[in-house]
Amino acid sequence: MTDRSVVKVLSGQPTSDGGGVRLTRVVSPDTGLDPFLLLDEFDSSDADDYLAGFPSHPHRGFETVTYMLDGHMLHEDHLGNRGDLEPGAVQWMTAGRGIIHSEMPQQIAGRMRGFQLWINLPAADKMKPAAYQDLEPERMPRVDIPGGQVTVVAGTFRAANAGPATGPIDGGATAPLYFDLALGAGAASELTVPAGHRVLAYVFEGAAAVAGVRIGKGTMAVLGDGTTVRVIAEAGGARLLVLGGRPLGEPVVHYGPFVMNTAAEIHQAIRDYQSGHLAAPA
Ligand code: MN
Repeated sequence: MTDRSVVKVLSGQPTSDGGGVRLTRVVSPDTGLDPFLLLDEFDSSDADDYLAGFPSHPHRGFETVTYMLDGHMLHEDHLGNRGDLEPGAVQWMTAGRGIIHSEMPQQIAGRMRGFQLWINLPAADKMKPAAYQDLEPERMPRVDIPGGQVTVVAGTFRAANAGPATGPIDGGATAPLYFDLALGAGAASELTVPAGHRVLAYVFEGAAAVAGVRIGKGTMAVLGDGTTVRVIAEAGGARLLVLGGRPLGEPVVHYGPFVMNTAAEIHQAIRDYQSGHLAAPA
C-alpha cells in the first residue's frame, strides 16, 4: 500500500457554455488529465444563469456524465431517448460515433446544481454506436462511513473503514471511479484506489485535507500514483467528488464537442455533422 500525494492543485474558472449557462470549469481538454477531458460545475439560484440550457448539439468520441444535485434537467437525443434528470440522478452517455442532443433545465426558479464530466474513449471505441444510461438516485449505493456517507456512481468504493460497494456503471476501457463523499466535521476516510489510475478530488462544499494538503471549496487535488488516498474533513465538514480513470495514453485532438485521435478524424466529424451523417454511416 502506498499513499498517493497531491502533485497539483487546480482552481475552477468561471465561464459559460451551451446557450449561455454560467458554470465553473475545473478541467478542460488542455489540462492534460487523461482520460478526463472536462469537468464543469454548475451551481446557481439565479435562473438567468441557467435558463438558456444546452440546446441541440453534437458529441463524438467520448463519454459525458451528468450528475444532478439540485434541480431538473431534461435530456432528449436524436435516437428518441428522453429523460428527466432529478436531484441525485446520473446520466452516463457514451457518444461513440455520434449523438445529437439537448440538455434543458425544467424549472424557471430555484437552485440548479450539478456536474458534467467528460471521459475519453479509446480509439477502438470512438466510432461505436451511441448509448446512454439514465440512473435514478436509488440506483447508486450509499455507504456509511464514520462521520459521513459516500454515494457510489461508478467503480468500487473501498476504504479502510467502509465498503466495498460497487456503482451501477460498467465503464469499459477507462474503468472509471466516481464517488461523492459527504463528510462531517473531522470525518476521515482512507480510500483504496487502483495503482496507475488518474485520481482527482474536487471539493465542492467546505474544505478537507487530501493527502495532507488543504483543499478548499472550488479547488481540485490532482494525485500522484499509489493505492491509497487519505481524506480528512475540516471542522465545517466537506463534500467532494473523487474521480478515477485508467489513462488511455493515446493522442488527443479536440474541437468543441468532438474528441478524436487525429486532425483528419476531427475534420471527418465536422463533415459528418454538417451532412447529417454524424450518428449513422453515410
Ligand atoms: Mn451535451
